[in-house]
Amino acid sequence: MRRKLVAANWKMHGSSALTATLLGALVAEPPPCEVVVFPPFPYLPQAVQLAFGAVGVGAQDLSAHVQGAYTGEVSAAMLHDVGARWVLVGHSERRQYHHESEVLIAAKLQRALENALTPVLCVGETLDEHERGNTERVIASQLQTPLQVLGSRLAGVVIAYEPIWAIGTGRTASAAQVQAVHAFMRSQLAAHDAKLSRLIRLLYGGSVKAANAPELFAQPDVDGGLVGGASLLAEEFLAICVAA
Ligand code: 13P
Repeated sequence: MRRKLVAANWKMHGSSALTATLLGALVAEPPPCEVVVFPPFPYLPQAVQLAFGAVGVGAQDLSAHVQGAYTGEVSAAMLHDVGARWVLVGHSERRQYHHESEVLIAAKLQRALENALTPVLCVGETLDEHERGNTERVIASQLQTPLQVLGSRLAGVVIAYEPIWAIGTGRTASAAQVQAVHAFMRSQLAAHDAKLSRLIRLLYGGSVKAANAPELFAQPDVDGGLVGGASLLAEEFLAICVAA
């Protein structure tokens, strides 16, 4: 069975005070599902310390390089060294604002796996692609390079479906839409490896709230969520975790 997972992507929000508040709330009331938080880089050591192993901690990005003269970059080994065990890869905001390519994203997945970090690979279509009926084509192409490069090592990855039109817009994909895309992703993975498609966890992200989480998480191919805005509110995020 796939254990439910709820992940908090704080994006470029927060402070040491908020890190203490959010981790404090999660550790005081351990939710029934697996929980991972993705704070900005400077708060990672603090989050690891406050998580007491009860909550996973990950970074929002990593370098595709091992080490070297890459000013501003953070390596997978450094993340592991400070206690992070997870990392987001290929978030749509990185694809859009930092022009991350499929090849770069696949290299980042490799660096993460080589350093015992569990990557959460984010995929998802734009509003235009959605309205033109190209969702499945886009998702299939975003899965293609990671599948080619990693093969069955993709079993060590979590995939998050985040339709770009649902991120931070308050417009959530319907539970039926999400289930259909997740079932499609599983069929794509099954074409390569049937066992992988049964074991891999698929999260949904995009305006997940306490109010819509129960219906989304009840879908058979939805194994939890990747939560942005609502993850910055302790009570709201705990309620989402309880729904998983
Ligand atoms: P929101 O929950 O704010 O829509 O963000 C989703 C997201 O991008 C998580 O990675």
